[in-house]
Amino acid sequence: MQNITGYIVNGILFVGACLLCVSFYPIQRLIGQLPKGALLRRWNDLRALILFFIAGYVSFTYLYWLKHDDNFNLIVPAVFFLGAVLVLFVGTLALETATEIKRISTLQHENITDHLIGIYNRRYLDRKIAEELPRFSRYGMPLSMLLLDIDHFKAVNDHYGHQIGDQTLQSLGKVLFKKVRDTDIIARYGGEEISILALQTPVSDAVDLAERLRQAVETSIMVPADEDEKRPAITITVSIGVTGFDQQFTDHHVLIERADKALYKAKQEGRNRVIVFDSTL
Ligand code: GH3
Ligand code: MG
Ligand code: MG
Repeated sequence: MQNITGYIVNGILFVGACLLCVSFYPIQRLIGQLPKGALLRRWNDLRALILFFIAGYVSFTYLYWLKHDDNFNLIVPAVFFLGAVLVLFVGTLALETATEIKRISTLQHENITDHLIGIYNRRYLDRKIAEELPRFSRYGMPLSMLLLDIDHFKAVNDHYGHQIGDQTLQSLGKVLFKKVRDTDIIARYGGEEISILALQTPVSDAVDLAERLRQAVETSIMVPADEDEKRPAITITVSIGVTGFDQQFTDHHVLIERADKALYKAKQEGRNRVIVFDSTL
C-alpha cells in the first residue's frame, strides 16, 4: 500500500514538474509582447514568484526522493501539483486574453481607419459628430468643422496616373496630420475630400487653422520629381469650407451641409482659399 502511494506521489510530482516547465512558455511569450511599463514590471514580479514556487516544488521533490519516505502523505504533493496546474492555467489564459485583445483592437482600428491615407474614415467621423454634438450643445462649448477638397485633382490622375494620385493623397494626409491638434478628428470624408472636426475650437480659430493647412499644402511637395520618367514634382492646392457649431443644431448633418456650402463657394471663387459659412451662402 505504501509503495503504491509512493508511485502515485512520484507520478504526481513528475507531471506537476512537466506542467510547470510548459507553463513558462506562454508566460515568456506574453512578457515578450508587453511594452515597457507598469504592466511589464508586474508580470516580471509574477514570473519571479512563479520561479520561487518552482524552487519550492523542486526542493520538495528532491527531499521526497532523497528520503524515499512513503510516510509523506498525499496532501502536500497534491497541493504542489494543483499549484503547477494553476500556474499553467493562468499563463495560458493570460496569453490567450492578450492575443484576443490585440486582435479585437486591430479590427476596431481597421474599422475606423481609411487604409489609403491612414486617417479616420467617414464612419468614425459621423459617429463622433453624433456623439460630440449633444455634449457640446449641453455645455455650450465651441466646435468647428473644416471640409477640404483638392483643387483639380482629376488632372493629377489624368496626367500622371492613379498611382501618383494615391501617393498625393497619402502625402496630403501626412501634411495635414502634422498640423492638427491631437484632439482634432481628421477623417477622409469622400474620394479626395478630408474633414476635420475641431473640438473646443471657435470658428475664428478654425479659420486660422484652415489657413495654416492651406498654406502648408500649397508649399509642400506631395510626390518628388522622377527624373527618369521626366515627371515633375507634384504639388497641389486645396479649398476649405469652415463652419462653426450653432447651439440650435438638432441634426448633425447640418454641420457638414454648411461646411460643404462654404467649400462650394471657395471653389466658385477660384479655389485655393478658405471660406467661412454664412447664411447668405
Ligand atoms: P475641383 O477643383 O472642382 O475639386 O476639381 P477636381 O478635379 O478635384 O474634382 P472632382 O470631384 O471632379 O474629381 C475628384 C477626383 O478625385 C476624381 C477621382 O479621380 C479622384 N479621386 C477620388 N478618390 C481617389 C483615390 O482614392 N485615388 C485617386 N488616385 N484619385 C481619387
Ligand atoms: Mg471632390
Ligand atoms: Mg477636388
